[in-house]
Amino acid sequence: MCNGSASPRAGTTVDDGPPARQLMKFLRQYQERLQLEHGWQVELGCSNCGHSALPNFRGWSPNRALCFSERPTVFANISCSNCGNDLRKEAGKRLVSMFSAVAPPPANRRLVGWFTGLLVGIPLLLLGILFTGVQADWWGYQAFVLFAALSVFVGPVVMGFNYRVASIRRECVCRRPNYIFMGQLGRSNCYRCASCGNLLRLRD
Ligand SMILES: [Zn+2]
Ligand SMILES: [Zn+2]
Repeated sequence: MCNGSASPRAGTTVDDGPPARQLMKFLRQYQERLQLEHGWQVELGCSNCGHSALPNFRGWSPNRALCFSERPTVFANISCSNCGNDLRKEAGKRLVSMFSAVAPPPANRRLVGWFTGLLVGIPLLLLGILFTGVQADWWGYQAFVLFAALSVFVGPVVMGFNYRVASIRRECVCRRPNYIFMGQLGRSNCYRCASCGNLLRLRD
């Protein structure tokens, strides 16, 4: 990808590559930042054999999330370390008891507010202005084409929002953030820091 026009200086953190490479770099960072680490590091009691311990974790599988108010959705494939019984249901109950009282951090709520404002407020405002303009004969109906063009910005706004929200779980009070994704409660994601046990609930 190097066109040889610039002499590369070894060991420097340059950020003056060609735009395409910049974009690729950004997209890679974006993906990295959004990546979830699935896991389950909390003890569960088995309804089959009564054994209470850390369950066996074997990756995760998609689970059709039903975004009701506080309904838990667990994606981790977890089973009893004693009898092999599937413990997803128990994990769901545990998720509720662990996270119902946890509120998303203020930074997250602010972001959701901004996001909603940008994606709902601004289009509504523009529609209002356009419509008033048409009625007052300032411009014709073609002005609505402009409104359609606005949809181009939806993608970057969504990406920016996701990136900022994902950045929240890059920090922790213990300074060794290692947030493991445990599942969803309603429409928010539940994380637990593997370093200190801190719980984090995010709307993303
Ligand atoms: Zn068991
Ligand atoms: Zn921590």
